[in-house]
Amino acid sequence: MKLEHIGIAVRSLEQALRFYRDTLGLRVAGFETLPAEKVRVALLPLGETRLELLEPTAEDSPIAQFISKRGEGIHHIALGVSQLDAHLRQLEAAGVRVLPGKGETGASGHRYAFLHPSSCGGVLVELVEAPQAAVREAK
Ligand code: ZN
Repeated sequence: MKLEHIGIAVRSLEQALRFYRDTLGLRVAGFETLPAEKVRVALLPLGETRLELLEPTAEDSPIAQFISKRGEGIHHIALGVSQLDAHLRQLEAAGVRVLPGKGETGASGHRYAFLHPSSCGGVLVELVEAPQAAVREAK
């Protein structure tokens, strides 16, 4: 398992990038819009991992709801796994709450699932199955 990315909720990508890109000096590898999640994402590689700045694209976006409740800040951490379904079976058997929509395909064609913060010490944890990791596993 590895740290795949850290998701950070921001009101405005443009404004957030003034800090992360212009002041801190991180590189922006690209942008993605995820219509299902109502979010626009800026991808900032950071060593073996990356930051994902998450800007809501609608009032009812989960990110907009997070910001209105808790303000901007770290929204979730994502762990890369090679066999998502096997991990989810094991976690569910251990009583961990997995949020609806598990196993859907998100950014860059990766399958993912979210674990409820109440099962993870208050942290929203995402599991991401990297396609290349799945291939390595199969060899
Ligand atoms: Zn994520």
